[in-house]
Amino acid sequence: MERRISGSTQLLGLIGDPVAHSLSPAMHNAALAAMGEDYCYVPFPVAAERLAVAVPGLAAIGVRGFNVTIPHKQAILPLLSQVEARAAAVGAVNTVYALPEGGWGGTNTDIDGFVQPLLGLEKGIPTLILGSGGAARAAIQGCLELGLGPVRVVGRSSEKLRALQQTWPQVETLSWAELDCHLPETCLVVNTTPVGMHKPGSPAELSPLSREQLRLLPAGATVYDLVYVPDPTPLLRMAAELGHTPVSGLEMLIHQGAKALSLWLGGKPVPVEVMRQAARQQLARIGDPNS
Ligand code: NAP
Repeated sequence: MERRISGSTQLLGLIGDPVAHSLSPAMHNAALAAMGEDYCYVPFPVAAERLAVAVPGLAAIGVRGFNVTIPHKQAILPLLSQVEARAAAVGAVNTVYALPEGGWGGTNTDIDGFVQPLLGLEKGIPTLILGSGGAARAAIQGCLELGLGPVRVVGRSSEKLRALQQTWPQVETLSWAELDCHLPETCLVVNTTPVGMHKPGSPAELSPLSREQLRLLPAGATVYDLVYVPDPTPLLRMAAELGHTPVSGLEMLIHQGAKALSLWLGGKPVPVEVMRQAARQQLARIGDPNS
């Protein structure tokens, strides 16, 4: 579909470093075109040391809202006039919107994106989160909002695990060595480590859980991998082969984007399927490990 940019076109965008391989521009611009909205979504590469200059600069040129990715998700908090409570609990903002009175408001639609594929799960199911970084924090908040639990987090940094318990005292923390004895009662496993993510030049097929460990899960457990390159990851491929229910991290990416776009457009429904198709096409173009 032909895009017309005119003097009245409004700007949305993404700040991060790097942003060149982001799927968000393709996803958002496809949805905006399908909706006939006179907006354009632009990736802005912003180095860490330029963040404090870039954020007021985006306001000065009238940007309506923007996404935030690595390395700015935490660093942006002090530059915002308002931060929603759940984003503050997670300690990260991925979506920023212009406030009517000036300044920026921040929220975390990674939490909304994370929960969307899990909405059909029963409450109160034992859940295991692998990893204790930024994505784990969004996943914990999402699991608790869904009423899942007990929620256990496996990490290798005792400092990060202690910090998680300070925010969410109800979460149990484990070392990787303690993992196996909890697998037989775990109905949902979420990988928030980058293990399994394709790296150029690396032929290794890595997975945060072995086939033997996946076999310990109850039949039909849900296995959710936040990594989505390759799609499916080795973890999800093995989980499907063993009869578990795989959930791709691409769904989280699509739904965090849909929630952000709807927010910027004043709560309008957005075409999620258009965003999914655009993300998949872009991933096939840039994310195919064999390309
Ligand atoms: P992060 O803050 O760096 O956290 C990564 C976590 O994984 C840390 O706890 C780290 O442990 C652990 N880890 C790293 N390598 C490990 C290994 N070999 N074995 C065991 N643990 C390991 O990164 P993040 O921002 O949370 O992102 C994590 C992954 O989620 C990335 O692949 C990212 O692309 C993906 N993600 C996907 C979405 C989506 O929309 N689908 C959204 C956000 C993130 P240490 O703390 O000990 O280093």
